[in-house]
Amino acid sequence: MSNRTFTMIKPDAFASGYTGAILKQIEGAGFRIVAMKLTRLSAEKAGEFYAVHAERPFYGELVDFMSSGPIVAAILEKDNAVEDFRKLIGATNPANAEEGTIRKLYAKSVGENAVHGSDSNENAAIEGNFFFSAFERI
Ligand code: ATP
Ligand code: MG
Repeated sequence: MSNRTFTMIKPDAFASGYTGAILKQIEGAGFRIVAMKLTRLSAEKAGEFYAVHAERPFYGELVDFMSSGPIVAAILEKDNAVEDFRKLIGATNPANAEEGTIRKLYAKSVGENAVHGSDSNENAAIEGNFFFSAFERI
């Protein structure tokens, strides 16, 4: 799984109609879509996905936001996928993101920041399994 990462187009970007542009940028950067679905996270599922942040002051806000509307979840494949995808999306806070990155282009704020990207190969596998069955992971 080391050439795979997991992403979500978050509720802010989906609601703003940026899904097509973001997917175009992802494919244009050389990522192959291995699995993808338009879905919604319940508050319970969002809390589970971001459980690592449960003690952070923004956890409640994060759970509310991530369960506020549809998201697009996808598994992506490319050499060095995790690191290259984090570069493509830019810093967590769009104010600090480099020009041309997805968050610089489409994120509203540090909380509503358009996309998720896995931070390690291990988490990429865990997160992909969270959303997709073995059959769906092509
Ligand atoms: P993600 O895991 O969504 O790809 P990230 O790895 O860049 O983002 P994390 O530190 O894992 O950043 O934080 C997870 C998410 O929590 C952020 O993407 C953002 O939506 C939210 N978040 C992080 N810091 C803050 C903050 N200071 N205030 C509000 N929300 C925050
Ligand atoms: Mg993270």
